[in-house]
Amino acid sequence: MNPHALPPRDPVPVSHTSPSVARPLRAAAPRPDWIDRCRPPAPPVDLGVYVHVPFCISKCPYCAFNTIASDGRLHEGYVRAVCRELREAGEACGRLPAATVFFGGGTPTFLRTTELEAILDAVRSAFPLAPGAEITVEANPGTADAELFADLRRLGINRLSMGVQSLDPAELRFLGRAHGAEEAVRAYRMARAAGFDNVNLDFMFALPGQSVEKWLRTLGEAVALAPEHLSAYCLTLEEGTDFWKAVRAGRLALPDPEVQADFIDATVDFLEARGYPAYEVSNYSLPGRECRHNLRYWSLDPYLGFGPGAHSFWQGRRFSIVGSIPEYIERIDAGRRVRALDEELSPEQRVFEAIYVGLRKRVGVDRGDFGRRFGLALDDVYGDRIPALVADGLVVSDDRGIRLTRRGLLVADAVTGQFCLT
Ligand code: SF4
Repeated sequence: MNPHALPPRDPVPVSHTSPSVARPLRAAAPRPDWIDRCRPPAPPVDLGVYVHVPFCISKCPYCAFNTIASDGRLHEGYVRAVCRELREAGEACGRLPAATVFFGGGTPTFLRTTELEAILDAVRSAFPLAPGAEITVEANPGTADAELFADLRRLGINRLSMGVQSLDPAELRFLGRAHGAEEAVRAYRMARAAGFDNVNLDFMFALPGQSVEKWLRTLGEAVALAPEHLSAYCLTLEEGTDFWKAVRAGRLALPDPEVQADFIDATVDFLEARGYPAYEVSNYSLPGRECRHNLRYWSLDPYLGFGPGAHSFWQGRRFSIVGSIPEYIERIDAGRRVRALDEELSPEQRVFEAIYVGLRKRVGVDRGDFGRRFGLALDDVYGDRIPALVADGLVVSDDRGIRLTRRGLLVADAVTGQFCLT
């Protein structure tokens, strides 16, 4: 539901826009000596748990996530399988504490409350919840009511992320959403009434025909609701989706990257002035209300993903689970492995990922953290690249670390690509 709430599906997550910068990628260099000094990954002391629920009421035309419009037939098998997968992982990992749990998808609340409860019980017995653990559930305003929110609170869910996407009726129709604007506001108020005091609202911008002014009006309505957190993503074209087919057929055109950059620029200013500074390229929150689970992804802290297509990052390995829901259920029921991709990252890949995800955060990459993680100075690895990016006005480098400038933020993918070592 939220394009960046999931563990990355690729070795690195993507930014919301990627216009190019002038400087070309560098050619591969001979093996540098820092590689032999690079520290191996430290054993995890806790983890983030991501549970992928691959079911939705209908499929949105822009969505390329591993989800299906579900008639409910696979739900029982899925719940049985994901609970077993959790149990087995808990035993294999020595029941490490879970600092965060995130139910994403898909639409987790499309499951029955008893099914969510069974999965959460399996999480708790596999990975004891750390004191104050953040437990998030994504909810679709079109399939939520007061009873559901009360049930979620009873289960111990303490953070809600709602896929609102727009508060304009025509835009919601264009996006194929199953809810209207009033329904979204009503659902938000019901969540508040049920006691949720940590709520994120997801929005999309740079829709065809949408002006920056119109987008900011929507954003103003969102701010007036006073959520703790806002996520704002540029509508991007994902291969295989209905929008992708429409663009290929010449029936739809999305705004070009320069226009998308104008939207991002305006969004950052608008939300910062209203007390929601960007703490990541697409995420804004009141101070102290950042999503702790997503921060784990951007800080390269260990997490395990469960359910079809979920990804994990664990002790320098990235692995993913088979995407097909029936295959996932069959394999788990038969006691067979469900891993699809399983890759041990090289020192070059680990270092690059630390930069790639770290630069997504407003605080950027901290020199001290980098040193503790890798046993290297940032300049040991990137001393030849950072000055050029600073000279181009794309990156700030100081004693604390490196981070994107506003100009760098607008071309985040292209800037982080300059740090690729392979
Ligand atoms: S609600 Fe729509 S956007 Fe969200 S996961 Fe389901 S199909 Fe995708």
